[in-house]
Amino acid sequence: MRARRRARVPDAPPPPSALPAVPPEGDPRGRAGSRAGSALCGPGGAASGPAGKRVCPGRRLPGMAGGAAEEPRRPLTRQQWRNRQKNRRRQRNKFKPAASCGDRGRLAAESVEAPGGRAPSLRQRLESRLDAARFRYINQLLYTRSSREAARLFREDPEAAAVYHRGFALQAARWPERPVERLAQHLRRRPASLVVADFGCGDCTLARSLPNRVHCFDLAALDPRVTVCDMAQVPLEDASVDVAVFCLALMGTNLREILQEAHRVLRAGGTLLVAEVASRFADLRAFLGALARLGFRLVSKDVSGSHFYTFELRKTDRAEAAKGAEEPRGLALRPCLYKRR
Ligand code: SAH
Repeated sequence: MRARRRARVPDAPPPPSALPAVPPEGDPRGRAGSRAGSALCGPGGAASGPAGKRVCPGRRLPGMAGGAAEEPRRPLTRQQWRNRQKNRRRQRNKFKPAASCGDRGRLAAESVEAPGGRAPSLRQRLESRLDAARFRYINQLLYTRSSREAARLFREDPEAAAVYHRGFALQAARWPERPVERLAQHLRRRPASLVVADFGCGDCTLARSLPNRVHCFDLAALDPRVTVCDMAQVPLEDASVDVAVFCLALMGTNLREILQEAHRVLRAGGTLLVAEVASRFADLRAFLGALARLGFRLVSKDVSGSHFYTFELRKTDRAEAAKGAEEPRGLALRPCLYKRR
C-alpha cells in the first residue's frame, strides 16, 4: 500500500508584511476622534510602559476594575491591545461564513455573490458553504480514485462537474499565476503546426491561447471544444500528436495507465509537458525515474516556484516498462486535498 500524505494546496501568496500599512477595518487606530494617544500605537509610536513593554497609552489592562478611581488607567501593552482586537474580530466574525478561516476556507464565502454590494443572505451563505463542501468532496474523489471511477462519478452526477469547476476557478483566482498560462507561453514559442493534446483541459484555456490544433479532453464539457472521456483512454490514433499536456491534471491513482496513454498518442520524439502542485511531489527523483521507465526522458524542469513545478519531457523508444503490468516505483503523487473548515 502506498502511504498517502495530504499535499499542501497552493494558497494566495503571503502579504508583504505581517503588519498592515493601514489600520484594518474596524481598527480604532484609524478612526477620527479615537481615544487620546491611540495614534501612537502604530509601529514606532508606542510609549514605554511597565517592565519596559511598549504600550498603547489610554488603554487599560484587563482586571483593573476598582483601581480606576484611585490610580490612572494602566495602558495595555502592544501585545495585549492586539489580542483584544483579535478577540473582538473573532466575536464579530463568529456567525459569518468561513471568510475568516484562511485562504482555503474562504472558498465558501467567496462564492457568494452579494447583489448590489449587499451582504449575502443566510440562504446564499448556506448554499455557498454546501458548494464548497461538495467541491472538497469531489476533489478528494478525483485524487484518491482511479480515472475510471472519476469518469463514472461525473457521468452519474452531471452537476458534479459544474460544482468542481466553480470551486477550481475560485481557487485558481487566488494563485499568483496559473500554470496553464505558463505552459501556453512556452508553446507559443514553438511552431504553431504542432498538434497538442490537453489531458484534463478544464475550460480549454490552452486551446483558446494557442493557434495550434489542440485536442481537449476532460470528464465534462465546459466548452464545446472538449471531448468528454477518461484521459486514460482518449479517442486518438497512435503517434498522432506532437505535444501531450497535463496541467494540474495528474489526478487519478492509475497514473501509469494515464501516462502510457500519453505515450501511445505521442509521435516518436514528441513532448510531454507536466505542471503540478509542488507539494504533491514526495520524491521528485523517484517520480522522474518512474517517468523515464515509462519512456519519458527529462528535458528541462522548473522547480523554483513555491506553488507549482513544471516539466518538459521527451518520448523515448525506451518504454519497456510501459508494457509491463507493474506500477513503476516512485510514480505516486500526493493527493492535493483541501482542508475542511
Ligand atoms: N488543465 C486545466 C484544468 C485543471 S483541473 C487548467 O490547468 O486550468 C483538472 C482537470 O482534470 C479538471 O478539469 C478535471 O475534470 C480533469 N480530469 C480529472 N480526471 C480526469 C480524467 N480521468 N479524465 C479526464 N479529465 C480529468
